[in-house]
Amino acid sequence: MKKLQITIYCASSPNIHPDYFSAAKKLGELLSTISCTVSYGGGASGLMGALADSMIHHGGDIKGFIPHFMIEREWQHPQVPSMHVVQSMHERKELLLANCDIAIALAGGCGTLEEFMEALTWKQLKLFQGKLMILNTNAYYKPLLKMLDSAVRENFMADDSYEMWEVHEKPEEIFNAIVKQK
Ligand code: AMP
Repeated sequence: MKKLQITIYCASSPNIHPDYFSAAKKLGELLSTISCTVSYGGGASGLMGALADSMIHHGGDIKGFIPHFMIEREWQHPQVPSMHVVQSMHERKELLLANCDIAIALAGGCGTLEEFMEALTWKQLKLFQGKLMILNTNAYYKPLLKMLDSAVRENFMADDSYEMWEVHEKPEEIFNAIVKQK
C-alpha cells in the first residue's frame, strides 16, 4: 500500500497553553504508528518542535521544509534527519502541498492560518486534490469556522464548500479519520 503523505501546519510560538502541546505530541505519537511521512515547516519551536520531537521519539517519519533564511537564523530542528532547504516561503508552501494526501492545521498564528487558507484556496481551484483537516483543540478555530460560515452564507463561497474540510476536536479523532481513509 502507498505510504500516506501528510502535511502539518502548526504554530511556531512556544508561549501557548500546554493543551496545544499535548495535542501536537499525541498526534505525532499516533502518526508514528502507521505508514506515513509527515511533512512540516522544519522548525524547532512551538508546536512544530513538539510534533517533530514526538515523531522522532516514537520512530515516525518526519520531513522538514525550511527556507534558507530560517537556517541562517538557526530556526531549523536539529534532529529532523530529512530537512529540505528551500529558497523561499512560496517554494516551501508549494512543496508542502505537492503529493500531499492530507493537510492538517493544528493551532497556530498568522503563518499557520495563511498556509491553511492557501491550501483551501488551492483545493477550491482543484489545484490540490488531497483532504484538509483541522484539529480544533480547545475550540481554537471556532472564529475561523464562523468566518467561513459567513463566507458561505453571503455567497462568497459555494454552498458545498463545507465538503472541502473536516474538523476534529481531538488528535485521536483526526487519527481515526486518517486511518479510515487509508
Ligand atoms: P505561525 O503559525 O505564525 O507560528 O507560523 C507558523 C509558520 O511560520 C511556519 O510554518 C513558518 O512558516 C513560520 N515560522 C515563523 N516563525 C518560525 C520559527 N521560529 N521557526 C520556523 N518557522 C517559523
